[in-house]
Amino acid sequence: MKMSNLYMPTLRQDPAEAEIPSHQLLLRAGMIRKLVSGVYSYLPLGYRTIRKIENIVREEMDNKGAQELLMSAIQPKELWEKSGRWDNFGPEMFKLRDRSEREFCLGPTHEEYFTNLIKDEVNSYKQLPLIIYQIQTKYRDEKRPRFGLIRAREFIMKDAYSFDVDEDGMKLSYQKMWDAYDAIFTRLKLNYKVVQGDTGAMGGKISHEFMAMSEVGEGRIAYCKACDYAATDEKADVVINIEDDEKLLDIEKIYTPEIKTIEDLTNFLKIDKRKFGKAIIFKAAGKPIVVLIPGDRELNETKLINYLKIAEHELEMADEDTIRKITMADKGFTGPIGLKDARLIVDKTITKIRNIVVGANETNYHLKNVNYGRDFQAEVVDDLLLVEEGDTCPNCGSKLYIDRGIEVGNIFQLGTKYSKSLNATFLDENGKEREFVMGSYGVGVSRSVAAIVEQYHDEKGIIWPFVVAPYHVIITVVNTKKEEQIALGERLYNELKNKGIEVLLDDRNESAGVKFNDRDLIGIPARITVGKLASDGIVEFSLRKSSEKEELKAEDVYDRIL
Ligand code: ATP
Ligand code: MG
Ligand code: MG
Ligand code: MG
Repeated sequence: MKMSNLYMPTLRQDPAEAEIPSHQLLLRAGMIRKLVSGVYSYLPLGYRTIRKIENIVREEMDNKGAQELLMSAIQPKELWEKSGRWDNFGPEMFKLRDRSEREFCLGPTHEEYFTNLIKDEVNSYKQLPLIIYQIQTKYRDEKRPRFGLIRAREFIMKDAYSFDVDEDGMKLSYQKMWDAYDAIFTRLKLNYKVVQGDTGAMGGKISHEFMAMSEVGEGRIAYCKACDYAATDEKADVVINIEDDEKLLDIEKIYTPEIKTIEDLTNFLKIDKRKFGKAIIFKAAGKPIVVLIPGDRELNETKLINYLKIAEHELEMADEDTIRKITMADKGFTGPIGLKDARLIVDKTITKIRNIVVGANETNYHLKNVNYGRDFQAEVVDDLLLVEEGDTCPNCGSKLYIDRGIEVGNIFQLGTKYSKSLNATFLDENGKEREFVMGSYGVGVSRSVAAIVEQYHDEKGIIWPFVVAPYHVIITVVNTKKEEQIALGERLYNELKNKGIEVLLDDRNESAGVKFNDRDLIGIPARITVGKLASDGIVEFSLRKSSEKEELKAEDVYDRIL
């Protein structure tokens, strides 16, 4: 591509809205542009990188026998009602209606849709196992879209779904996808860690997150150097925020047997070694009411009921039976509970029950006839940190370290959650009807672009790893008015192109300074500078990632590149 024709609107200054390097550099390098908050266009250079990542993902998925297809982004409400997620997914779901008032959503993920497809087409154990995937645009109305491609409201995800005859089969599929993800993120040159995850809105019991290490990462992970323990600290806690301050009461008291303040809570968690505990915080006028939901391994039904009774006390929202039904039957709950599980429980309870009472543990400190949605909303805050550096590893007892990462992939063992609710069954060897045992697997394709930039940049710009660079080589003609420079530049350009190298020729009528700055900014890995020595057939060769330069005979650059 000749840069005199390239649509690459680079910017000199950091756009005011961009807070982190990847967001600044992707905008400045003319790779992306914002339409509205959380919605971006991929311009020519950016889209080349996206396609390269997609192809790496594709190759590694295909390698494991997964098959690519493409589903619609628009999905009918009925599918989501069957799984219960129409109400439970929360305000992140984009909902819409057609001209005859039928309701739809723009898919934030596709468990229901894939399960429904397979339900009608796959009837026998002989057709299993099956892994299918797509690379597609997803929609989530994120509360706080930010950091450019990292937390967008429209983004590209690879999502895969596995269908097996039993748990063992599911575990094999899970391992295959884990291996595929290792291959993908290694090829993307990301420095990443695999950590135990929260199963969140997807459900299921086991999940792992692939975290690209970065200090700007929104994910906080605790890991041990003595053993392989690593887990996300899904510290973000649910806050129920009552919007109208006027209506609010002075809710200061936190009702639990021992805990009266946030400090008490933090201390309690420390003393009690419930390091991965979760807390649901109901907030009113900035004052919290805390309901503890520990995520530790010892949590059992009685404890959970006790904790929810505290919620019940605060909200007078449900009796023990209702809570038991909601938590146990709906979630198929047996073990540790994650934050999002807790949130589901609360959402399920309080969204369904109308005219509830909220308030503190004190007479005359309650509001009557409060409704979820109308009077308050659930929101996530992230200021309650439960694990600290130096805490004890739950696995081996050594010291824990804390780091930050960007979640670029997430794999889930779903079990029969979706096959059960959508009634998706097959016939086993004995002709018996059974539910598919499923897994689901996501890669944030567009988010990965940003994660790579976070790990590969300097003060001048991006430093693309070769495999995802929009172009491999850039030839800069220092002075386009000099015949011999343009001629040599064009000759090298054509020859490299013929050899299958993706090459840019900077033949623009700009100053050398502008061209060098742009070249640093867009981060093309190999550079050829055609300047004064062109008349002697000499060019300069350098790599974006190093400061070394060498003068070479033009013919010798091929050795450096091929
Ligand atoms: P997060 O914790 O960052 O909100 P998530 O756990 O909600 O992400 P998943 O449902 O696991 O996301 O989706 C699979 C992958 O899709 C994530 O691992 C991430 O890489 C990507 N992804 C999720 N939300 C976004 C978003 N808003 N913008 C860009 N990529 C996203
Ligand atoms: Mg999310
Ligand atoms: Mg997550
Ligand atoms: Mg996730």
